[in-house]
Amino acid sequence: MSAEALSLQGQVALITGAARGIGAASARLAAERGARVVIADRRMDEGEVLAAELNAQRPGCAIAITLDIGNEEDWQKGVAQAEAAFGKLDILVNNAGIIRVQPLREMTSETFRKVIDVNLVGTFLGVKYGQEAMVRAGGGSIVNLSSVQGLEGREGFTAYASSKFGVRGLTKSAALELGPLGIRVNAVIPGPTKTKMTERPGWTAEDYDRAYKGYPLGRMADPSEVAEMILFLASNAASFITGGDFAVDGGVTTGKPRLLG
Ligand code: NAD
Repeated sequence: MSAEALSLQGQVALITGAARGIGAASARLAAERGARVVIADRRMDEGEVLAAELNAQRPGCAIAITLDIGNEEDWQKGVAQAEAAFGKLDILVNNAGIIRVQPLREMTSETFRKVIDVNLVGTFLGVKYGQEAMVRAGGGSIVNLSSVQGLEGREGFTAYASSKFGVRGLTKSAALELGPLGIRVNAVIPGPTKTKMTERPGWTAEDYDRAYKGYPLGRMADPSEVAEMILFLASNAASFITGGDFAVDGGVTTGKPRLLG
């Protein structure tokens, strides 16, 4: 793969949930590859710090905006802010997401709806308003974050898995509609990745890796490893790829680990 094809020089990327975790790693890599980056998050404090970090490396390459992905007006405003700051929008990474782990029999409909509203409706709104700007820009690439729980169920994950299966359906249907407009739409399926989302009180680094010992790569991912796939799909190196979903999961969905010696 050529560095030229992976380059994001001259491109404008809006990344949701970019204040931390996989979103922040994606913002750093996008800026490193030459893009101008809109860091969109509910958390302005951390978003501003990241924008300052990126601007210190390449002046004027990043802004931070407040955007709650479940809020339609925020999307209209956010896309307009991106276009006002950088003139266009070429890349949208629908990364922001939440998780609620709870047994089905204890979960309220409010909790279930909240997860669907952020993870699935929020991604839908991003595609809806992002594609409008991309049509104005003459094309673009959208990358949606699903999960290994978008491929298989897990106890306690009814709301989260439903939302992440939904993101894959949304991605494929949107790819069909938006391909003729020059917009590619793909999904990334991260496996266990070391971020705030997966933090467990009192766990050490060894505890995390031990939890995945039986799987092919036997560890969790660093957010930068997921960002590599996200920015590959965003770039021209993926110019013939749309409607796909790509696991970066260390093999956790390959099969069941051996449980008995
Ligand atoms: P994280 O919790 O570390 O960061 C998520 C970011 O999204 C935060 O900055 C948060 O403020 C922001 N956010 C949450 N709700 C928002 C909203 N309504 N509007 C705007 N911003 C909002 O999470 P992460 O681990 O970096 O996860 C990123 C994405 O990857 C999520 O969609 C998640 O479901 C998915 N994912 C993560 C893992 C993992 O193991 N970490 C695995 C599979 C999929």
